[in-house]
Amino acid sequence: MELFIQIFYFVAAVLFILGLKQMSSPVTARRGIIWAGVGMVLATLVTFLAPEITDTGQANTNLVLIILAIALGGGYAWWSGKRVAMTDMPQMIAMYNGMGGGAAATIAAVELLKATGEVEHGLASSVPDALGADVAILGILGAIIGTISFSGSIIAWAKLDGRLNRSRLLPGQHLINAAVALATLAFTVAIYFATDLTPIIIFYVLALVLGIFITVPVGGADMPVIISLFNALTGLAVGFEGYVLGNAAMIIAGIVVGSAGSLLTHLMAVAMNRSVANVFFAGVGTDSGAAATGEQGEMKEIKAQDAGILMAFADQVVIIPGYGMAVAQAQHKIWELTQLLTDKGVSVKFAIHPVAGRMPGHMNVLLAEAGVPYDMIYDMEDINADFKKTTVSLVIGANDVVNPSAKNDTSSPLYGMPILNAMDSANVIVIKRGRGAGFSGVENPLFFADNTRMLFGDGQKAANELIHAVKEL
Ligand code: NDP
Repeated sequence: MELFIQIFYFVAAVLFILGLKQMSSPVTARRGIIWAGVGMVLATLVTFLAPEITDTGQANTNLVLIILAIALGGGYAWWSGKRVAMTDMPQMIAMYNGMGGGAAATIAAVELLKATGEVEHGLASSVPDALGADVAILGILGAIIGTISFSGSIIAWAKLDGRLNRSRLLPGQHLINAAVALATLAFTVAIYFATDLTPIIIFYVLALVLGIFITVPVGGADMPVIISLFNALTGLAVGFEGYVLGNAAMIIAGIVVGSAGSLLTHLMAVAMNRSVANVFFAGVGTDSGAAATGEQGEMKEIKAQDAGILMAFADQVVIIPGYGMAVAQAQHKIWELTQLLTDKGVSVKFAIHPVAGRMPGHMNVLLAEAGVPYDMIYDMEDINADFKKTTVSLVIGANDVVNPSAKNDTSSPLYGMPILNAMDSANVIVIKRGRGAGFSGVENPLFFADNTRMLFGDGQKAANELIHAVKEL
């Protein structure tokens, strides 16, 4: 039976890896999700045959508990997954990520409780004696990483969901964080030598607090880095706990998530021009370091009809989508507009900033859904030089990713973040509903620039008006 289980774990692991590979392109991503999902179902089903479940005296109670947990968790996930709006996906992912970290930390807690129980009853002399030194060390590492990822991801969820609006940096926050981190590390060592529950409880409380303290000060624009870092940490924690349980599928799934998450963290940090340490410790984008948001002049409005004429007679239009396009679900209208402009001989390109929207690849997914061909979509580094020869940059629901203060205002919390050079084009048309700031809360001087015109309104409505304007010509 053991061999049978391991073979199926191996098949599940292969499905995870192949699924992940397919997720790297929007064309195959849907299939990739299904493959990885099938792998997960397979790994879960085959686990019911494991001797830990079938051979214990408590088999029936365990089975009932496991099935109840799967039914409750799976049922809720199915229900909420079906209902979630596309714009709320990032926070749902942050929450699921946190649950993964929490699950890994719980596995470690159960093993530690069992081990200290054995020590208390004289069946073992220490935690490593009860579990084995390698299992104890990896289990404890998984516990600290998983717990930090759990509480940190909940804070990330709250920020993405708009429940915790701004990042906060308390006076002396770095010192407090350092003190909590040191105390957590001290108790990480202490639980290796624990003989009762007390150090384990203190350890978990400290690690939970550390996750919260690390995430609360992270500035708006830096959230993508921290979210992908937690993703990587959750993978690592699951991998470690897979070792504790001797479960090959968990180890491989954890390693796959951990390495993909680490790569993503690196890419996100490069895209933001920040080191991961800087994201953790600088508290950028916090209220305390917010840029001057004083009077910058007048925003100049444009009507859809005039904007339509400007674009229809342009040589080149570059469309810059952002989070607001997702909110407005305007991608289909934008694609319709693109086709009309192309028919009139205008060269149209899409420019994608790596952190546009609220999750990696957010804009690519929306544009793919609308049917925009991939050869029209350009990454930031490939299009930035093009803006100088662009007649109109159409910014739809983007804000932080086109904020020039990231380039030229050293006091701005966004300073140093590479942006799309929309301001270099001859004309900029910005579609947004009002004067609202972007995710970072930093005011955008582009909206006040001489060559910028604001087309106020919901993204979908404004795109529709542009379509009518171009059609009428
Ligand atoms: P921003 O959040 O900077 O700006 C979005 C803009 O869209 C707002 O200014 C808002 O203005 C406008 N908007 C909102 N709803 C609508 C609507 N219905 N119609 C038209 N406009 C609308 O978005 P960006 O994409 O430019 O930047 C992404 C930000 O999110 C960055 O700071 C990034 O760091 C952060 N982030 C990114 C993640 C990722 O992985 N991509 C993850 C977490 C955070 P108004 O209210 O006036 O309409």
